[in-house]
Amino acid sequence: MSISTTKKVLIIDDEEGVRESLKLILSDHYDLAVAENGELGLEILKNAKDVGVVLMDIKMPKKSGLDILKVMHAKYPPLKIIIVTGYKSVETAQEAVRLGASGYIVKPFKSEEILSTVGKYIKEAK
Ligand SMILES: [Mg+2]
Repeated sequence: MSISTTKKVLIIDDEEGVRESLKLILSDHYDLAVAENGELGLEILKNAKDVGVVLMDIKMPKKSGLDILKVMHAKYPPLKIIIVTGYKSVETAQEAVRLGASGYIVKPFKSEEILSTVGKYIKEAK
């Protein structure tokens, strides 16, 4: 099964384990870019024009996902940003949706959840 798209998925999470699981789930289907913090993520977006969907953690050292989301959404309005967060941060994730995120996924996530959510938004990504 392969989904044909030219759009990349950008993964931003400070935890290596989470980055690795997301890579395992998505790498057969999408081209990926990976960053361990939001600032590196913004740097990638500046150079790669073909990112359609971002999967981003909320709790990260220095700048939180929420801070990065505000900047990212303002700079790249068509980008579909999906927040991936622990259950303790669900309220913050809902706040993120009010601030422009397309949706959120709660950790621990299932691979099907990641694939269906990314699949849905990558189709809408311009
Ligand atoms: Mg984190």
